[in-house]
Amino acid sequence: MTPHPISAMPLWMEHAVIAPPAARELPGRVDVLVVGAGYTGLSAARETAAAGRSTLVLDGGALGTGCSSRNGGQVAYSIKPSFAALRDKHGADVGFRICREGLDAVAYLRSLAREIDCGWRDDGCFFGAHTARHFERMARDAENQPRGLEQRISVVPRAEQQREIASDFYHGGCVYPDDASLDPTRLLLGLLGRAQDSGATVVDRCPVNALHATREGFEALTPRGVIQARQVLLATNGYSGPLSPWHRRRIIPIGSYQIATEPLGTDRVRSLIPRGRNIVDSRRVVVYFRPSVDGERIVFGGRAALAETDPLACVPRLRRMMERILPQLHSVRLSHAWVGWVGYTFDTLPHLGRHDGVYYCMGYCGQGVPLAPYFGRQIGRQMLGLADGRTALDGLPFPSRPYYHGKPWFLAASVFAYRLMDAIGI
Ligand SMILES: Cc1cc2nc3c(=O)[nH]c(=O)nc-3n(C[C@H](O)[C@H](O)[C@H](O)COP(=O)(O)OP(=O)(O)OC[C@H]3O[C@@H](n4cnc5c(N)ncnc54)[C@H](O)[C@@H]3O)c2cc1C
Repeated sequence: MTPHPISAMPLWMEHAVIAPPAARELPGRVDVLVVGAGYTGLSAARETAAAGRSTLVLDGGALGTGCSSRNGGQVAYSIKPSFAALRDKHGADVGFRICREGLDAVAYLRSLAREIDCGWRDDGCFFGAHTARHFERMARDAENQPRGLEQRISVVPRAEQQREIASDFYHGGCVYPDDASLDPTRLLLGLLGRAQDSGATVVDRCPVNALHATREGFEALTPRGVIQARQVLLATNGYSGPLSPWHRRRIIPIGSYQIATEPLGTDRVRSLIPRGRNIVDSRRVVVYFRPSVDGERIVFGGRAALAETDPLACVPRLRRMMERILPQLHSVRLSHAWVGWVGYTFDTLPHLGRHDGVYYCMGYCGQGVPLAPYFGRQIGRQMLGLADGRTALDGLPFPSRPYYHGKPWFLAASVFAYRLMDAIGI
């Protein structure tokens, strides 16, 4: 039997109408040049253009090359370090304000979703406990949330988890009813429209190959000519390349892979995930899945490989991971498999600011659906000198590590160790 072909295009992009930004003459001089046309770059461009600054956004690939078209579309509070860890490292005030901005980012995206038709669904998330110990810790944390940072959380014991997922894989878990999901590509196109409507010019397939400081700002070298810009923003996240070695030394690109089942029918999907929620679990090497926007399929993602760029090569592993949780999917066909490069940081916080005069905003550690539009807006406002662009992350050191130059040689050992810890349940 000929195997069913699997498309390497993200499911979300398949039916999206992505009109290529006009292949127009590039302006020779602009106020603001944004490098990278994902959620971050487009959100920043919208601010600067709306304030009357001539703004050009360039992307090296076709629109949607980066993570912003191809992620899982899960919307959750997304600051990775706990309040306690941030308090110990940066003080109670900064720690609290960083966490608050994590909540603000979700609220901002929710408000954007009223303007942008992005398939927003308020179905919440089930956070499955990988071990009984994880469940106990989750239940304890849910009881003891820091004051002023509370989220609605309900604890689901193992005996009741079938109401969330038709699986015995987890040891219970927690429901976050205020989490949401969306169609990532539709969000990207919505942010593109907002940036363009404000007057920004967006051009894809035009990489910035070099940046040189000049008396009046910067000179950007592209295959389509040289651009003079008063201000430059790097919004390249997990795709940060040789353009800026300083940033490359601080961003760890990590592949995240997803598969989509063929249409199963909404009843079958509902029989597996009765409340239609996002599902994530407490393993270190995390997996995440959800119903597709139309409720017809399961879209499943995780860290399937370390540096594999061919998503099809990761299909068998992802499928095994999915079937361990939902054995009912054993015989289903897969229709899509894709990969994107998320940008991690050494302190697992996003970073924004200015280095050698170049603005930057990146490092969402795989959680940029709410964080990138929010911090993108904030950095755009900072470029305008506006006080309401300030964030709690301003001025935090952006750490690197000795011998790290953009190729994460340590990742194989770390992921191996994490997988081992997951397997033995610690
Ligand atoms: C499979 C997967 C699943 C994910 N799931 C979730 C999720 O469920 N929830 C969540 O919150 N987050 C998720 N994420 C992360 C989220 O998608 C990202 O954090 C977010 O999209 C980052 O947006 P960005 O605009 O900063 O970067 P990107 O969207 O990655 O854009 C960066 C752009 O920079 C361009 N670029 C790089 N160098 C140059 C150059 N020299 N010149 C011109 N252009 C350049 C690239 O071509 C690219 O388009 C996921 C990511 C992946 C890959």
